[in-house]
Amino acid sequence: MLDGPSRIPTQVVHIARDPLDPLFDDTEFRRAVRTRGSAIKRVLLDQQVISGVGNIYADESLWASRIHPETRAGSLSTQAVNRLLAEVRTVLAKALAEGGTSFDAQYVNVNGQAGYFAHSLNAYGRGGQPCPRCGGLIRREAFMNRSSHYCPRCQRRR
Ligand SMILES: [Zn+2]
Repeated sequence: MLDGPSRIPTQVVHIARDPLDPLFDDTEFRRAVRTRGSAIKRVLLDQQVISGVGNIYADESLWASRIHPETRAGSLSTQAVNRLLAEVRTVLAKALAEGGTSFDAQYVNVNGQAGYFAHSLNAYGRGGQPCPRCGGLIRREAFMNRSSHYCPRCQRRR
C-alpha cells in the first residue's frame, strides 16, 4: 500500500531471488512449497517464493518434471520439489542461452508472442499437439486469467 505517490511504501513486499542467482536459497524454497496449500504452478508464479518464472517457464518446468500444474504444493515430496527446481533452472538457463530473458513475461511482451524461444517449447502453446515425450495430446486449460499447458499422460493429477 502506498500512502501517496512520493511516499515510501508502508508495506515492503519481499521479492525472492531468481533461481539462477547463486544466493538463491533452496532450503527456503522447499520450505515455502511445503507450507503452501495452493497449486504448485501458482507457487512458481509467486515472486515472494521465486522470481523470474512466468507462465511459459512454469509450464515448461512442470512438464519436464512430470508434475501436474494443479498439484497441491504441500503434497509434493522433497524429491519432486528438488526435481522441479532443477528443471526450472534448466529451462531458465536454456532460455538465456537462446537469447531470451530470465523474465519470460517481458520477453513475450516485447515480441507479442513466445518468439524464437518457441521452437524449443515442449508444452507451452502446444495445446492439441502431441507431447514430445509420450505422444499424448497436450491439454490447454484456463488458469488465473491465463492458460496452463500440460500432458495429462505424463503429468498425472494426484
Ligand atoms: Zn506426455
